[in-house]
Amino acid sequence: MFKAFLIKYAEIGLKGKNRFVFENALRDRIQEALNPLGEFLVSKEQGRLFIECPKNYDYEETVEALGRVFGISSICPVVVLDSSQWEDLTQGVGDYVEKMYPDRHFTFKVESKRADKNYPRTTPEICADMGAYLLKRFPEMKVDVHNPEVRITVEVRTKSYVYSIVIPGPGGMPVGTNGKAMLLLSGGIDSPVAGYMIAKRGVSMVATYFHAPPYTSERAKLKVVELAEKIAKYTGKMKLFVVNFTDIQLYIYDQCPHEELTIIMRRYMMKIAEKLAEEEGCLGLVTGESIGQVASQTMHSLAATNEVCNLPVYRPLIAFDKKDIVEIAEKIDTFETSIQPFEDCCTIFVAKHPVTKPNIKTIQKSERKLEEKIDKMVEAALNTVETIVVG
Ligand code: ATP
Ligand code: MG
Repeated sequence: MFKAFLIKYAEIGLKGKNRFVFENALRDRIQEALNPLGEFLVSKEQGRLFIECPKNYDYEETVEALGRVFGISSICPVVVLDSSQWEDLTQGVGDYVEKMYPDRHFTFKVESKRADKNYPRTTPEICADMGAYLLKRFPEMKVDVHNPEVRITVEVRTKSYVYSIVIPGPGGMPVGTNGKAMLLLSGGIDSPVAGYMIAKRGVSMVATYFHAPPYTSERAKLKVVELAEKIAKYTGKMKLFVVNFTDIQLYIYDQCPHEELTIIMRRYMMKIAEKLAEEEGCLGLVTGESIGQVASQTMHSLAATNEVCNLPVYRPLIAFDKKDIVEIAEKIDTFETSIQPFEDCCTIFVAKHPVTKPNIKTIQKSERKLEEKIDKMVEAALNTVETIVVG
């Protein structure tokens, strides 16, 4: 029954002079999200966006796709009435109610907006007179202006728009309005959630995964690709860099105290990710770290990891409990993939008793044992990066 949607946005409305940048970006992100589903036409209209749907489009699939476009605050399937003449308007709204609600035993309220200030009825008159019309046509309906079960909104412009369904959108800001960041994406639960959260603030994403064949399987890599695909449902096309980390890991394993292994490894991961980030024009790194979750995420460990980075490191989950992270992972559909049992490269090389309070000076001293070969190895890792495009 719906051939169009009205899309409302919240936060981008606050952007003052730059508002059109955000509106255009939102329009483009919506268009990109809907392109695979058919020939939808997205246009800007005073303070909101309007989507015209092709014939035979799939309603559920469309709403689902819109539900993943950051920047949308609500999705309203709408019926467009070509004439705003009062008789046509009442008839049209009545027909809408008739079709939409076969059982009309509910309380309702009419809300209205009008763009044309010369329209023969004021806004309160439109509401009152439309309410009266509906009551007469459908005596089983009852008015409740305070807490109605159904809110029927009528927007009167050259054409008129009727809707009563308001589906919450994902909120946030349109991807691409806030620079680009490099996500360190592992196969775990946390990093996909971290990527989702930063993307939700309008940041474009690129991702890096460190793998260590043959210690980590091809299947572990495919799992990360699958997670990247799931993030890309929100971000649109995304590059995933796969870095072969085996030689570096083995070298650290040979040269450095085993209890420091994880920290030193993580420092190299950050350094390499940062190089790739700079090449990609990223303004920051993103990780799934959370204080105290594991030995490598105590305040001391985070400080030691952070020390090697020049770019800001964004850690959106820093104060989240695991159960709250899991909740988001389930919501964005990454959880089931994340819990598939494939080793990521950290779990193979973990020491029995990793340091939980690494001293940066001590770590730096241990790293000096890597001086002979490490720069070459980092270079080799960067030169052999595999790039996968997802989404
Ligand atoms: P996750 O669930 O995201 O894997 P985790 O709880 O397993 O996190 P760690 O293994 O300590 O924690 O990793 C902390 C963060 O470092 C991850 O959230 C991720 O951003 C990054 N990271 C860890 N391993 C890798 C990897 N193999 N490739 C890319 N990034 C990684
Ligand atoms: Mg992990």
